[in-house]
Amino acid sequence: MRLKNQTAIVTGSSRGIGEAIALRLADEGANVAVCASRSIEGAEAVAAKIRDKGQEALAIKADVSLSEDVDALIKSVVDAWGKIDILVNNAGITRDNLIMRMKEDEWDAVLDVNLKGAYRCIKAVTRTMIKARTGRIINVSSVVGLMGNAGQINYAASKSGLIGVTKSAAKELASRNITVNAVAPGFIPTDMTSELTDDIAAKLIEQIPLGALGKPEDIAAAVAFLSSPDANYITGQVIVVDGGMVM
Ligand code: NAP
Repeated sequence: MRLKNQTAIVTGSSRGIGEAIALRLADEGANVAVCASRSIEGAEAVAAKIRDKGQEALAIKADVSLSEDVDALIKSVVDAWGKIDILVNNAGITRDNLIMRMKEDEWDAVLDVNLKGAYRCIKAVTRTMIKARTGRIINVSSVVGLMGNAGQINYAASKSGLIGVTKSAAKELASRNITVNAVAPGFIPTDMTSELTDDIAAKLIEQIPLGALGKPEDIAAAVAFLSSPDANYITGQVIVVDGGMVM
């Protein structure tokens, strides 16, 4: 229970990695705002699981590509709980294509959600965190932001960009006792990676020293650590959770 009496927002937590993060933060004692841009039933279901664990939960429809949604999200959480201790910028999408075929709207959509969405949320939450003189911000990047990936120029740019956001925000907010870190997952079976064939998965596993794809819970464990007092003296860092693929 490292997060007793803490309040957390996890963007994009109606399924996949975000769901695992929301559930893990609740297991550690946090009350959690579960958010999604479309799948509000999914967010409600995750919130119900959190309430079953004895924690409070809010299910909020919030599209991180819309400033008004992000502002309304922050207001709802502050109105309900009076503070925001932890922000996890997890919402993300892919629109994969080869460079020559990539349309500008595919580029824009991915950058707008994955990168600018994090900027919107960080900007909206900092007033509350600065006033409280405490806060934890964790951005969900990707190994693709560190090593690139053919067919994902937009996604790689967004995930590398998040690392720059993490380090800059960490420097800017450190004097207010707000830490900002990133987690870079490797390949984790979720809806996002559901198009991976068994053949491709087998080839990927050959490149992973620990010999397996990751689980959403592996990412959630790293986020919980960075959210907790155990990480008090860590800021501006990227924790790679990928079975050793990138070293
Ligand atoms: P996922 O299963 O597709 O879930 C994505 C979540 O984000 C959903 O809850 C989705 O709900 C939400 N979302 C999508 N667009 C949104 C928007 N505009 N505003 C708010 N929420 C939005 O994906 P995942 O695999 O769990 O990925 C979670 C994060 O981990 C992403 O940032 C992803 O890039 C990163 N990541 C994943 C992997 C992997 O292998 N799976 C690897 C590295 C990094 P709605 O659609 O209802 O909004």
